Amino acid sequence: MTRGFVGKILKVDLTTKNITTEPIEEEVAKKYLGGKGYAVYLLYQYIKQYELKGISPQNIDPLGKENVLIFATGPGTGVPRFPSSGRHHVMALKAPLTGSIGSGNAGGEWGAFLKFSGFDGIVIEGVSDAPVYLALIDGKAEIRDAGELWGKNTMDTTRALMNSVGGKNTSVACIGPAGENLIPMAVIMNDEYRAAGRAGLGAVMGSKRLKAIIVSGDQKVPVAKSEEFRKVADRCLDAIKNNSVTGEGLPTYGTAVLVNVINTAGAFPYKNWQTGIMPDAEDISGETLTKEYLVRKRACWGCTIGCGRISSVKSGPFQILNAEGPEYETIWSLGSACGINGFAAIVKAHHLCNELGLDPISLGSTIAAAMELNEKGYIPEEHLQGWVLEFGNAAVIVEAAWRTAYKIGFGKHLALGSRKLCSLYGHPDFSMAVKGLEMPAYDPRGIKGMGLGYATSNRGGCHLTGYTVAPEIVGIPEKIDPLTTEDKARWVKLFQDFASVINSTVNCQFASFALGAKDYAELLSAVTGWDLSEGEVLKIGERIYNLERVIMSRLGFDGKDDTLPPRLLREPMPEGPAKWHIVDLEKMKREYYTLRGWANGVPTPEKLEELEIEL
Ligand code: SF4
Repeated sequence: MTRGFVGKILKVDLTTKNITTEPIEEEVAKKYLGGKGYAVYLLYQYIKQYELKGISPQNIDPLGKENVLIFATGPGTGVPRFPSSGRHHVMALKAPLTGSIGSGNAGGEWGAFLKFSGFDGIVIEGVSDAPVYLALIDGKAEIRDAGELWGKNTMDTTRALMNSVGGKNTSVACIGPAGENLIPMAVIMNDEYRAAGRAGLGAVMGSKRLKAIIVSGDQKVPVAKSEEFRKVADRCLDAIKNNSVTGEGLPTYGTAVLVNVINTAGAFPYKNWQTGIMPDAEDISGETLTKEYLVRKRACWGCTIGCGRISSVKSGPFQILNAEGPEYETIWSLGSACGINGFAAIVKAHHLCNELGLDPISLGSTIAAAMELNEKGYIPEEHLQGWVLEFGNAAVIVEAAWRTAYKIGFGKHLALGSRKLCSLYGHPDFSMAVKGLEMPAYDPRGIKGMGLGYATSNRGGCHLTGYTVAPEIVGIPEKIDPLTTEDKARWVKLFQDFASVINSTVNCQFASFALGAKDYAELLSAVTGWDLSEGEVLKIGERIYNLERVIMSRLGFDGKDDTLPPRLLREPMPEGPAKWHIVDLEKMKREYYTLRGWANGVPTPEKLEELEIEL
């Protein structure tokens, strides 16, 4: 058996109800690791099969029977002492919000427990004729009736299933009403508090009428060189403890530690990105959250950082006790993007997003775009039915979660996502999205590398596939100027390749504030026994990113889609450290394509050969 894996992938056809298993192929794992990389490899095999059958990948309906949903763990997942390794990666051939490849990474416990249940991954094909859930318990898999769960929110679903199975190492991933109603910003929640959260993976699950997956078991993950692994892991855990971000900032304030940092850099988008400075950002900062709302901290399985928060709003119209979060991205999207400067509504709205199974980044950004459209007079009054859709109206973000998940009133327009909503009202430029996916909380006019990263991210506007905030703002691994485009192509490529390694390992991106590719090479070598160098690990990351790009080209994407919203390309930042800056994307893109070996955003045959990618 390949070390670092429990050895098998479950394959479920929901149309025929056929369940099979396939072994982990060591040769594939050596080239693509696990997690995202292995899933990208499998998705490409589906592309080939469809093309042989005469089905064009471009014509695949994201909510139809041909779409494929994959849950995957990697060689690090579930290995005790492997830093922050309770995570899993979810991928879909096509995401409903974007039409691009679907990809999401989630923390919690579910990833580790999936492995303990006896499976390294799950491939879901087809569409069930009635609601079902999957039960993976002690190496056995069953499709079960979910009639009584359909309609329940994510928390009630999780608790009902946990009560029915019980036992230690048991965990649930599920969708809420948003996924059932096929909202293209629906997420897959796990453990009640983490999500594979972008571009509508929850709607793909809903379209298959798959309500939940419960995993349970106590299978151990085999490690090739346990003594060597213990030494490397101890050194890495020490590095995490002694690092200012992973040992201090994140544990003390959670991800919200970034609010003041990014606002000071002039890159904290405010009121649908009209500027990069929020005047009262302190009110929604990590420091204020800790002082006034924090109940306790929480960590995902196997994590010594513990960036999770539990918060309470003790009184008032937005009262909510012991709610998860809020995270930096949520605080921004439901707060600053919408001009809202108080935690109460943000905590409440975030909790509702978790219950209903909605992506708060896309929801908040879409509300912000609608607020700007309305402020400028582009939404007819009768469409709002008395709703006061104005920047700063805190009640809106709470109501919007319900309305969007159930498509009530104006909620049916919000449920489209910002790109379609803004096009509907004749002003697509107000959508702050890349490839249709709403961007997260870093204005690239003030952090230039993030602009190139958003534009060239395969899944769309994403910070997690090229997080150059680390060098540009935090100074890790070294401090570089955030306002220049110089050398940014190299940094973005490096971070994208490295993120592919992390998402395929699978562990948490936050660990990489303290750990570099060399550490990953040593950790992975000890677990798998493969003897990987730092260069080989980064080459695996590059291979994964390129094969994902090949899939993107088969789905109809090329260099024209590697762009940014016009606001960032044409409207100078009005104030702050980035005043007068726009993003000179074309210059960075040219350098980036040259470094990547891509022509018009597509890998050349020479590049594919160099990376040993067989099509
Ligand atoms: S750093 Fe935060 S998100 Fe990452 S594994 Fe730890 S608790 Fe989870």
